Amino acid sequence: MRESGRAQASGWPGVGGQLAGRLAKLDIYRQEDLLLHLPLRYEDETRLTPIVDARHGFPAQVEGDVVSCEVTLRPRRQLVARVRDGSGTLVARWLNFYPSQQKQLAVGRRVRLFGEVRGGFFGDEMVHPRVRPIEAGEALPEALTPVYPTTAGIGQATLRKLIDVALRTVALDDPIPPDVCARLGLPGFAAALNALHHPAPDADPSALESRDHPAWRRIKFEELLVQQLSLRRAYNARRALGAPALPVRDRLTAALIAQLPFSLTRAQQRASAEIAADLAAAHPMQRLLQGDVGSGKTIVAALAMLQAAENGWQAALMAPTEILAEQHFRKLHGWLTPLGIDVAWISGGRKKREREAELERLHNGELLLAVGTHALIEDPVAMPKLALAVVDEQHRFGVRQRLALREKGRAGQRPHMLMMSATPIPRTLAMTHYADLDVSVLDELPPGRTPIRTRLVSDARRDEVVGRVRDACLEGRQAYWVCPLIEESEALQLQTAVDTFQMLCADLPELKIGLIHGRLKADEKAATMAAFAAAELQVLVATTVIEVGVDVPNASLMVIEHAERFGLAQLHQLRGRVGRGTAESVCILLFAQPLSDTARARLKVIYEQTDGFVIASADLHIRGPGEFVGARQSGVPLLRFANLEADDDLIGPARALAEHMLAHEPGLAERLLTRWVGGREGLLRA
Ligand code: ADP
Ligand code: MG
Repeated sequence: MRESGRAQASGWPGVGGQLAGRLAKLDIYRQEDLLLHLPLRYEDETRLTPIVDARHGFPAQVEGDVVSCEVTLRPRRQLVARVRDGSGTLVARWLNFYPSQQKQLAVGRRVRLFGEVRGGFFGDEMVHPRVRPIEAGEALPEALTPVYPTTAGIGQATLRKLIDVALRTVALDDPIPPDVCARLGLPGFAAALNALHHPAPDADPSALESRDHPAWRRIKFEELLVQQLSLRRAYNARRALGAPALPVRDRLTAALIAQLPFSLTRAQQRASAEIAADLAAAHPMQRLLQGDVGSGKTIVAALAMLQAAENGWQAALMAPTEILAEQHFRKLHGWLTPLGIDVAWISGGRKKREREAELERLHNGELLLAVGTHALIEDPVAMPKLALAVVDEQHRFGVRQRLALREKGRAGQRPHMLMMSATPIPRTLAMTHYADLDVSVLDELPPGRTPIRTRLVSDARRDEVVGRVRDACLEGRQAYWVCPLIEESEALQLQTAVDTFQMLCADLPELKIGLIHGRLKADEKAATMAAFAAAELQVLVATTVIEVGVDVPNASLMVIEHAERFGLAQLHQLRGRVGRGTAESVCILLFAQPLSDTARARLKVIYEQTDGFVIASADLHIRGPGEFVGARQSGVPLLRFANLEADDDLIGPARALAEHMLAHEPGLAERLLTRWVGGREGLLRA
């Protein structure tokens, strides 16, 4: 759990100045931090290999006398030494070297060299071997030698010495109860550290290096436990803050529900009730509303916003794109105007004069609800009575942006936060990345949706696909045509979209076709979306700007070109733009050969699966968890040792123990946090 910006390094007795500064680069600030500076791997220096027996391509240790040592200048400056034992001679070569190394290699000295042997022009050689000058007859080490991650200016020997001293000096008390260790088959803290820093003489290096060795698992369990502790503490600290209490009044909310053309699903009712109860409390809600594409999160958000308005407080909904924000605005406007509630529409693209009037009304509290893009968090927007901040597609925003919205409220009081995401999060990730959130899940789609059929079609058959678009549109349906993702160049992506648009216009003269991409001005985008929503356009050629949230129920055909270039979550999101009405929807994934293994695996998943949770787990598998939720953006400290996928069996027990400790053994929890993070609150998510 590393984090930059710790206090300046000042060292401890015996370690100061320059060394302390260098150790700080390794995130070692206290002697205690050395304990958890664990080896990357091990080297076997317990044995000597005669020079003639050293096998090419394998690490070996040889011992002999230096017979020559010189700096040569051709083909480039390097240090070349020859070492001889009873069996043969070996050349050692360094392209970078210090004067001290030359001294170690004075002719006649006895040295041990550790490195990989290979065949060179002048016979067997080692490039950049480790050198240890020795006295004749000096004993070999009895155990494997740990190799630590290090930085310029700190040698392995220095680190090893420092760590050995730390192991003898620092208390190795074990805050984890022995029965928990026994149940999980884990050694105690001291035993685990000793096994890793000082392997037993007979330890097998590959077993130790594989991170499922019990000693490693013990350390990883402790790390996961500390993560849970700090996240749970953040959760508890937040609950101690004040927020406007918004009791359920059921006047406007009931009126909205009565007026909807559909009834809420059970999942929507449940999530709404959970949110309503949180809002009624006088401490800030921090809730994630998670629901697959099309599960109906918007109405749940609208009901929450209305609960704020009913109590005379303000609420804001922020969406990541203009298109989506505008669509939300239209929805809310349509739902709420009949109830006599006005909604402000805040976007960078609006005319100044209109904007200023609305800003003024938000500022003086006359307007209670606002929908917008990140323009909402910018300076001129003041909402002094903000009691609820809703962030749609929350993973598309950075931590800072999400928090900035919260800051709009009155000083001393925090607004409630509702975050929404269509990216389903596997359970283990939810437990580690979102341990300080409450989660409501919409696990049910509104009824009457026909499942989407997915087709994989080689792009050699593009003409047939164009024909299908024509047929569908002539039958009164609408279609999206998604242009290939070109990650390297936005300009190229734009050009491709324009080309595709022109090609389709030429191929389908009988249809009205629109084009939408990220470079259009906000009002142009809005006009095109509105035309498509009103069925004035039959085909919408688009870049991935339509990826999130866009909702046009009559669109039942989607073509995605070069589907092999998209990620799974993206494909799932895109596909979710269709299947929103009653007509049977089809998603055609055009792909180009040859397919990479990853691309093939992804297309297979998206073809076979429709459940967002299943797709998310598969994605986690293919991509690894880091990318998945934008972990680097989530504000949650990164794990140094544990791996959420490989160690997921440890997460549940770590969470349970964290809760128990915070309730019954706060001293032990404190001790663990001190050991791992120096007791700083900096780790805690704001
Ligand atoms: P998402 O969860 O992807 O944001 P939306 O809120 O955009 O989903 O809802 C998708 C569509 O389903 C919208 O047209 C919305 O009006 C409609 N919808 C929402 N809830 C229901 C329901 N209970 N029954 C029928 N349609 C619903
Ligand atoms: Mg949505």
